Amino acid sequence: MCCESKRRFLLLYATQKGQAKAIAEEIWQQAGAHGLEADMHCISEMDKYNLETEQDPVVIVISTTGTGDPPDTARKFVKKIQDKTLPPDHFAHLQYGLLGLGDSEYMFFCNGGRTVDRLLQELGAQHFYDTGLADDCVGLELVVDPWIDGLWIALKEAFQLQKEKEGMNSAVDAVSSSLSTALHAVHELNLSSEVQNLKLEDEGARDSDVLSQKLDDINLVAPARDTEPSLVHSVPPVSQSALNIPALPPEYIEVQFQEAQGENPHLSSLISEGTTFEVPVSKAVQLTREDAIKTALLLELDIADTAFEYQPGDAFCVICPNSVSEVEELLHILGLSEKGDDLVCVKVKQGNKKKGASRPQHIPERSTLKFILMWCLEIRAIPKKAFLRALVECTSDAGEKRRLQELCSRQGASDYSRFIRDSNVCLLDLLHAFPSCKPSLSLLIEHLPKLQARSYSVSSSNLYQPGRLSFVFNVVEFPAGPSRPVSRKGVCTGWLAELVAPLLHPRGNTLDTKGESSSTEKISIFPRPNNAFHLPADPSIPFIMVGPGTGISPFIGFLQHRQKLREQHPDWKFGETWLFFGCRNQDRDYLFKDELRCFLENGTLTHLKVCFSRDSSTAEVAPPKYVQDVLRLCAKEVARVLLKDKGYFYVCGDKKHMADDVSNAVVDILSMEMEADKLEAMKILAMLREAKRYLQDVWS
Ligand code: FAD
Repeated sequence: MCCESKRRFLLLYATQKGQAKAIAEEIWQQAGAHGLEADMHCISEMDKYNLETEQDPVVIVISTTGTGDPPDTARKFVKKIQDKTLPPDHFAHLQYGLLGLGDSEYMFFCNGGRTVDRLLQELGAQHFYDTGLADDCVGLELVVDPWIDGLWIALKEAFQLQKEKEGMNSAVDAVSSSLSTALHAVHELNLSSEVQNLKLEDEGARDSDVLSQKLDDINLVAPARDTEPSLVHSVPPVSQSALNIPALPPEYIEVQFQEAQGENPHLSSLISEGTTFEVPVSKAVQLTREDAIKTALLLELDIADTAFEYQPGDAFCVICPNSVSEVEELLHILGLSEKGDDLVCVKVKQGNKKKGASRPQHIPERSTLKFILMWCLEIRAIPKKAFLRALVECTSDAGEKRRLQELCSRQGASDYSRFIRDSNVCLLDLLHAFPSCKPSLSLLIEHLPKLQARSYSVSSSNLYQPGRLSFVFNVVEFPAGPSRPVSRKGVCTGWLAELVAPLLHPRGNTLDTKGESSSTEKISIFPRPNNAFHLPADPSIPFIMVGPGTGISPFIGFLQHRQKLREQHPDWKFGETWLFFGCRNQDRDYLFKDELRCFLENGTLTHLKVCFSRDSSTAEVAPPKYVQDVLRLCAKEVARVLLKDKGYFYVCGDKKHMADDVSNAVVDILSMEMEADKLEAMKILAMLREAKRYLQDVWS
């Protein structure tokens, strides 16, 4: 495949959910148009490349897991380059550029990429291009697209440098001047990338007719009276621009329908690691009042007849399906309503142009069409630009076609962010908005990601409730809006809420095991590995828990566990326990109010601090609204527990902002109580994190 005139570079990817791989494939695809050849491998395929002898530039695309670790596929690689016996110039010959993917909703943003970057630097490897850190929280493409654009210039400069080095080993001046040219060139990225893109587009003959559309067609989507853009309407300058659109991703999947009836694979085949357990829901309680802004539900699962084990503080995963009505709607739009129960054979297209094309691992080779749409594909995923680009080809109306092109173009980048990403638009929303768009099933399989199992924190203790596991969640609501004709519920939380509706208890004593309903509803769960969010091993160590809203969930498990230990071991010494809880209204969403009172009364919980952000107060001094405000009021005690008593600090909750606000409060408290400057306090907090005495379990 390697053309002699093309310069080669090594392209490695380490992927967890497929995004890093997709981006590497995009780089691989684009490389040809730039006269380059990417030798692409998964970073785990260590027999296919050798960094020790690698002379060509290396490009690494690497994602990060929720716990801040590099993906599983990079573990062996990281272990290898972590080897302390390697000399500091081990990779002195290596030139590399690294693109890290992460989500700033999680604490260790892009830590996988940062770790590999740091280790390579420590071993003497040189950057030929600045590291990019892309944030899924605001949209990976905001960093990924310009990073890829700049990569081509940086690579060419790196090759140039290499040539100069080879030719004139002693000409140090020449090398440094080239370096500065390289840097300059990267800064000139915008201008050059336009040129590169135009080249790319020239290659795609299929695009040329559409690209040359002028105002006649544009008027179809943006009538003169519309001055405001929307998902389907564009306004100048976007509506009048020539567009730089991405190259058309190659098709590589082929599906064949068979009318025969057949068995669907078991749900356990949907996960790559560990075992799944199908367990009955033994209890469901609504923890919030009907008039609360969010609905929180507690579900209890009967795990008595399984080998499922957990500790308080663990999280586990729930395998969830898409909504039946959405799947039916999709089948209708695809014109496949009659074929839902037909068997589908999914194969890789012969002679396709996709590098390393293979059937996505989350799609069974043979299953019914409904099974694929219900259990395998994240039909709610926000469509990526490459998907929009592919949808252009399935759209017959010229105006709709043009708008889809705009949305995936460079010129339409802010429209994409506003009307697609930030509006949480999904495929169905797009198909409603662009009714002449009729994609094929194979296109959906190529572009929709795997339907991920959702994680939940356990809110019970196996000591307190043997054979039972509880968890708490808010039912996620997506209100209807300009880009979404109907309101929707979260995939998993909406499904669970519907599933347990018949056995729902009103608010009551949720820990009371009496009054269980016998239910036949079952859900499939599996353990989530690598959790450090556990009680201190030594019960005499004091700890502080901060858990507003559903963030209280794991702490109920902690307290149940502690209560049982106190009953079983009256001679043991137990450290003090603090809980900071916050919600909107005392009457509407104060979760586990009665249970917390019991824990206080029996001495399991030593200090309970609560606050209500939406309750009005007539007090002269306004009461604190948020948990971080209450923490500040208890500054002396918090500092004592952390510094003098060597206690633990746990934060759990559903918002990144809360976790940041809490850690800022802790920094202020440490700085005030130690009379140290802020930097010093931040170092102490970092040390506490390192020692796993400051632990977070935060989700969005
Ligand atoms: P989805 O359909 O996946 O939608 C949620 C997505 O939509 C999120 O990306 C969110 O940012 C976005 N979103 C949410 N609301 C809106 C809105 N109104 N408008 C636009 N976008 C919106 N959750 C709990 O409730 N309890 C727990 O104990 C818990 N523990 C967790 C532990 C871990 C380790 C992790 C990683 C997550 C945990 N979560 C927990 C989160 C949980 O896994 C799910 O993400 C959550 O329940 C939503 O799932 P869903 O399928 O219903 O929503």
